[in-house]
Amino acid sequence: MKTELEDQIVGILPEHFPNFRGAPSQTCLAYGFSCGDGWAPILLDLVTSIAAYEIGKGVVEPTCVFDQVKEKFGILTIYARTEDPYVRGLIDAARSLSARTCENCGSTKGIVRTQGWISTLCRDCLSEGAEFTEVDHVTQALASVERCREVHGSRRWGSVLWLDDVRDPSNFGHPGAVWVRNVDDALNLLTSQKWDLVSLDHDLGEGHDRDGWVVAKALVEMALDKKITFGTALQCHSANPPGRSNIEGYFKDVRDILLGNR
Ligand SMILES: [Zn+2]
Repeated sequence: MKTELEDQIVGILPEHFPNFRGAPSQTCLAYGFSCGDGWAPILLDLVTSIAAYEIGKGVVEPTCVFDQVKEKFGILTIYARTEDPYVRGLIDAARSLSARTCENCGSTKGIVRTQGWISTLCRDCLSEGAEFTEVDHVTQALASVERCREVHGSRRWGSVLWLDDVRDPSNFGHPGAVWVRNVDDALNLLTSQKWDLVSLDHDLGEGHDRDGWVVAKALVEMALDKKITFGTALQCHSANPPGRSNIEGYFKDVRDILLGNR
């Protein structure tokens, strides 16, 4: 990554990168971030979100320390030490985003994965004649879950509420999740206990008059009523891009409310 982009990212939270450009014998960040410029906006959003979260929470000590940032198997791979589940969720989200963002130019249109040396690129950035596979969103989501397992093999979510009409949470790294298949059950359980992770699908299939966004909207109400905190990570595992951005829009509202921005 270009030096000026790295400086912009690290400059937002310098104390979270204490070893940045340190001695090669001491740190994996000696040569900066080992990935393309296309992922700079993802990293910029990540550090900005962490900064906003820490300000909102009033914490003085950094909630995480970054040890390494690199591309691995076509995915943005971030090694960071943190005990904070919300920050961990932000880092996971950045990883997921990279699986559908061109590492070279940052485009999210026409994304493919090259074969051989695996890279995530858009069709415009693909070298001529390069072999590639089309990347659909479900594959990308699964790939990021695999990466997540690889990097955080020991991490286990405590309580997980999983809304999906067909997809089994155990195939997505959540064998212990409470699996609900419709909006009513999700709404009933939402307030029944504290959840570490709420993961929503958007399209609940035929015969359902209400989709996952209804639950996301209810989370906004819960944030306004102070019935949800940063301790609950929110995730959308929908394979439908407009559906996902709809739900992620509500998640953003929840974060803004919790941060006191609205
Ligand atoms: Zn590109």
